[in-house]
Amino acid sequence: MHLMIPGPVPCSPRVIAAAAAPPPGHLEPRFLSDFGSALASMRRVFRASAASQPFVIAGSGTLAMELAVQNLIDPGDRAVVLSTGVFSERMAEMARRRGARVDVRGAPVGAVPTLDPIDADIVFVTHVDTSTGVRMDLQAVRAAAPEALLVVDGVCSVAGEVLEMEAWGIDFALTASQKAIGAPPGLALAVAGPRALARHGLLHVPPPLSLDFGAWAPIMRAYEAGSPSYFATPATSLVRALHHALDEIEQDGIDARIALHTSRAAELRAAWATLGLTPVATVPANTLSALWFPDGVGPELIAAIRERGVTVAGGLHPDAKARYFRVGHMGWVLTQPDILRDVVRAIGGALGHPGTEAAAGCISG
Ligand SMILES: *Cc1c(COP(=O)(O)O)cnc(C)c1O
Repeated sequence: MHLMIPGPVPCSPRVIAAAAAPPPGHLEPRFLSDFGSALASMRRVFRASAASQPFVIAGSGTLAMELAVQNLIDPGDRAVVLSTGVFSERMAEMARRRGARVDVRGAPVGAVPTLDPIDADIVFVTHVDTSTGVRMDLQAVRAAAPEALLVVDGVCSVAGEVLEMEAWGIDFALTASQKAIGAPPGLALAVAGPRALARHGLLHVPPPLSLDFGAWAPIMRAYEAGSPSYFATPATSLVRALHHALDEIEQDGIDARIALHTSRAAELRAAWATLGLTPVATVPANTLSALWFPDGVGPELIAAIRERGVTVAGGLHPDAKARYFRVGHMGWVLTQPDILRDVVRAIGGALGHPGTEAAAGCISG
């Protein structure tokens, strides 16, 4: 069975071996070096400055979102959320609960919000919205909000889409281990740039202790320096798997890995077009495809695809849930053209489409 949902994604054999070995102690020299190397690698993968601080904390992408909200907002702050779907709405709710005054700027399903000038303390944007497959132009967001702290939910984009934290002026970016980075679920990953770290230093209302950068930053710095230190036990098996996933990405280089996402996405879009499938997104991402069901087809298609050995995901956006499905295409699996052809064949076969072999032929290698 091929797991082609927008996370968790299939892991490479090397990452599976790293996750499956006996759990290391959190103070063992080998673990210190694996953790330290993962943190250093995150700075390169996020294209962040040397002055930025990476964080790896047990939890999912939602916890990484909470890290941003709790460490960068005081009650009463003015926040703008550019909403492209489910995850932007989640971020808005978190910011409201922290006491921010939240202005949500939305768009119809599959579209991006209009970028009028933004006057706010902090702006939240979802780089790739996993509920619709739409990608936001982060440089345009920065241009619309030149002063505000800029927070990017990159859970469905980091290591799969071009994202330049330092060059584009992104103050905080976050992801989770189970998406384009290609490790098992369970780790919240974030990188705070210098302006975000400074904002945290000026908070009037401290974050919950278990999420506080003030508690975690010294620990992350210690791991990067290779010295033992403890605040709360890290998920050691997962951190080791993360190290191997990032190291694998860096063997070819992050640019090559992102270029692979771009070219595979183009091949898959050609395959979908051959099968008569159209994307939900006006600006489709390279990490997943959200595809409308063709006329006369409904969610039963997902079960038919599954019978052919491939798991895809249903719709997620509340306004269109039952009218589309989603295929994740990120991480290591993109290096496996045979699997991608099987995925196209399973979808074409489930549709009973005569162009199925032609569609599979869109995948190169
Ligand atoms: C998956 C995802 C999340 C949530 O991550 P979890 O690990 O499920 O908590 C948030 N934002 C985006 C864009 C995502 O794709």
